[in-house]
Amino acid sequence: MKSIYNYTLEELESYFLNIGEKKFKATQVFEWLYRKRVQSFDEMSNIKKDVIDRLKEDFELNTLELLEHKSDIDVHKFLFRLTDNEKIEAVLMNHDYGNSICVSTQVGCNMGCSFCESGRLKKIRNLETSEIVLQFLLVEKLLGIKITHVVIMGIGEPFDNYDNVMNFIDILNTGKGIDLGARHITLSTCGIVPKIKEFAEFGKQVNLAISLHAPNNTLRNKLMNINKAYPIEQVIDAIKEYINKTNRRVTFEYILLKGVNDTKECALELSKLLKGMNCYVNLIPYNETSHIEYKKSSQEDIMNFYDILKKNNIGVTIRREFGSKVNAACGQLRSKYEEVK
Ligand code: SAH
Repeated sequence: MKSIYNYTLEELESYFLNIGEKKFKATQVFEWLYRKRVQSFDEMSNIKKDVIDRLKEDFELNTLELLEHKSDIDVHKFLFRLTDNEKIEAVLMNHDYGNSICVSTQVGCNMGCSFCESGRLKKIRNLETSEIVLQFLLVEKLLGIKITHVVIMGIGEPFDNYDNVMNFIDILNTGKGIDLGARHITLSTCGIVPKIKEFAEFGKQVNLAISLHAPNNTLRNKLMNINKAYPIEQVIDAIKEYINKTNRRVTFEYILLKGVNDTKECALELSKLLKGMNCYVNLIPYNETSHIEYKKSSQEDIMNFYDILKKNNIGVTIRREFGSKVNAACGQLRSKYEEVK
């Protein structure tokens, strides 16, 4: 049986039309699911009994099982179990501007970035839309808070699970659903070029972030397998096209790895590559993990890299570090859990 949380408003409207009901029932159901957050179909008190029975036959009102909750200053990390016993992670961060959740989109990941923990456990499957939606709903419920921002940057490559992720964004964004502004949603990709082009046509004001991590193909090939399929010049061209179409500024994420991609030369080459683009660079201090050799750049090297970009008129920020004590970096909690077992 299908989870009802897989359905966008439009899909639920077609469902009701198909069973010979009025399509506004979909709006009513959406309000029960996403405004009043009911736990059972029986609570949907403005819906007739025979329709409720039909809903019960056709859909599950499933949820995720909480396995672990760890917290540190301003960060909460959750490990959830899915119905087929797979595990996924979500992270909640408290910022001065609100609460942001980082959601996972796949069980494992096949992109094979050499610095990333998630990729050590290969992709097992895509998450269903419902499994992404439920990360959001459950974290709000568990912490009793309102989430104001969503970053699609957890385990997995969102553009390798495109349709389910777009449906998730639709459910978040629709006024009848969670009603979160598109500008409060950020999707991060390792650079799957055809999907960047498709996303340019998506028509919502969602923020796009690209994991770049290197200014040239030689280095990027070493760090990110995906670069062999979609080399850096193709990524940059696709992003330029995206910016032209959407008029939106993009973010380039750049993890600083000691002695690998944090040199003065890299900073200069990166400045040249991005010159004139409507973008900014988010420098990410590497979150070290025990299985991977890379080390975090020194504070001094981070600042030097920052200064060079600044001097070359590239917008730049340094990402605040969260949760190294709770293994909050990308896949670390799940990976640790699998090992302990
Ligand atoms: N697949 C998508 C989204 C998931 S990864 C992507 O590649 O963008 C989210 C971000 O975390 C990426 O920029 C990724 O490169 C970065 N990341 C992965 N491991 C990290 C680590 N140990 N420390 C800091 N950032 C990391």
